Amino acid sequence: MEGPPEALDDDLCVRSCERCPALVASRSRIVNGVGPADADLVFVGEGPGATEDERGEPFVGRSGDVLDEALRDAGLARTDVRITNCVRCRPPDNRDPRAEELANCRGYLEAEIDRLDPEIVVTLGKVPSEHLLERSVAITGESGTVVDARIGDRSRRVLLCVHPAATLYDRSQRDGFFETIARAAELSGAADGAGGQSRLGEF
Ligand code: SF4
Repeated sequence: MEGPPEALDDDLCVRSCERCPALVASRSRIVNGVGPADADLVFVGEGPGATEDERGEPFVGRSGDVLDEALRDAGLARTDVRITNCVRCRPPDNRDPRAEELANCRGYLEAEIDRLDPEIVVTLGKVPSEHLLERSVAITGESGTVVDARIGDRSRRVLLCVHPAATLYDRSQRDGFFETIARAAELSGAADGAGGQSRLGEF
């Protein structure tokens, strides 16, 4: 069952939803996307973790710090981009969202991306990559790849990327992650107005 697009309010937020009983039981709140409603660069993660559930914002905590650092390195601020998730409610015990939960929430994500109409969608990790591409993805090997994917009624350019947490567990992935975020900024055109802070020329 997909969430109807009209369920998003003017801020691209879902204010009330009980489609996923297990997630409704485990969440503190619905964690909606953050960032401008006309962002050209959209990041899609898996779903809220404990810190996100507590603070009501996607990609905060240590993973969020890595993403923020990579954005700064690419000449961008967090407030320049949209950051959202495949599911908006925290799965219990930090398990992956189930297929039916991803399907339940997909309509909201599609409606959000449709209204944003971004230049590029960046998937952060295996789960959002497989969800949007509707195939299995070996994310470490495919990170940095741009593909076309059908999202809602439109074909979108999607840049695959590892989850920022991967750089915390494996330092060897850090350079690749930063390069992919810089590429995302370049593809979106979002780094153009960043006051010359971008290091794109180094990659
Ligand atoms: S994850 Fe999405 S579809 Fe499921 S209850 Fe939360 S907002 Fe609704």
